[in-house]
Amino acid sequence: MSILNADLHCHSTVSDGTLTPEALAARAHANGVELWALTDHDEVGGQHRARAAAQALGLRYLTGVEVSVTFASVTVHIVGLGFDPDHPALLQGLAATRGGRGERAQEMSEQLAKAGIPGAYEGALKYVGNPELISRTHFARFLVESGVCRETNEVFRKYLTEGKPGFVPHRWARLGDAVRWIREAGGVAVIAHPARYSHSATQEYALFSEFKEHGGQGVEVVTGSHAPSEYGKYADLAIEFGLAASRGSDFHSPDESHTDLGALPYLEGRLTPVWELIADRVQ
Ligand code: AMP
Ligand code: MN
Ligand code: MN
Ligand code: MN
Repeated sequence: MSILNADLHCHSTVSDGTLTPEALAARAHANGVELWALTDHDEVGGQHRARAAAQALGLRYLTGVEVSVTFASVTVHIVGLGFDPDHPALLQGLAATRGGRGERAQEMSEQLAKAGIPGAYEGALKYVGNPELISRTHFARFLVESGVCRETNEVFRKYLTEGKPGFVPHRWARLGDAVRWIREAGGVAVIAHPARYSHSATQEYALFSEFKEHGGQGVEVVTGSHAPSEYGKYADLAIEFGLAASRGSDFHSPDESHTDLGALPYLEGRLTPVWELIADRVQ
């Protein structure tokens, strides 16, 4: 059913969120979320904690992850839902995906130093909850703390995106590999926030087509990372490609995120909710 307050996308201190898995579970429950998934970047280290916290609150839970992928030279995020969080192929794939982050962070820091901002690596590390998962978000928090920018959005715009001084290009996982790891672990793969990518229309069509061919089954339609005016286009694309639809806030932090857990419109009735495909995986 579409009329369900499902929130299947958010981040904890295990990646680049500022709340622990337990605090997120409590916040989701307090906000009226009825089905929840924690989807940390490239990492399932918070899954057992999130599930235990949800179960203690009587909140239904699906396992989750958000895998970083490079497709047509652009970073794309693939959400996995309802998988076995201890599956070896998935754990190995995610460990390999996390692997380059430390070096990339050092390079970002060197570039920022050249742009007149010294000590960014050490500064970002203060915000890191998981040493294997240093991300641009942690740099953004440091640049706000040190007064270089007023908010994290501005840091991304001025320093951390393509063509800007602190941006270091990175090759993430391949689309087919990410989908395979999720499927082999028994889950469903979902294209995260498709409106956020800088692909051309042709490349976007290729992303959806290849994702389907690899066995991908869903796409986020209602997400805190889309403007409401973008929901309709991706609802249409979900139907065109025979994909189920997902819904999630992409909540990272009470201070930074515009969309709180559970605070989104419902999916349209014409869509197949992704949770119907994995009803037997709800815990
Ligand atoms: P990384 O995986 O290290 O490349 O970092 C990507 C993360 O940066 C995303 O998951 C978001 O949390 C954050 N991010 C990307 N773009 C922006 C933006 N424009 N404003 C704020 N946060 C952003
Ligand atoms: Mn993030
Ligand atoms: Mn994302
Ligand atoms: Mn996310």
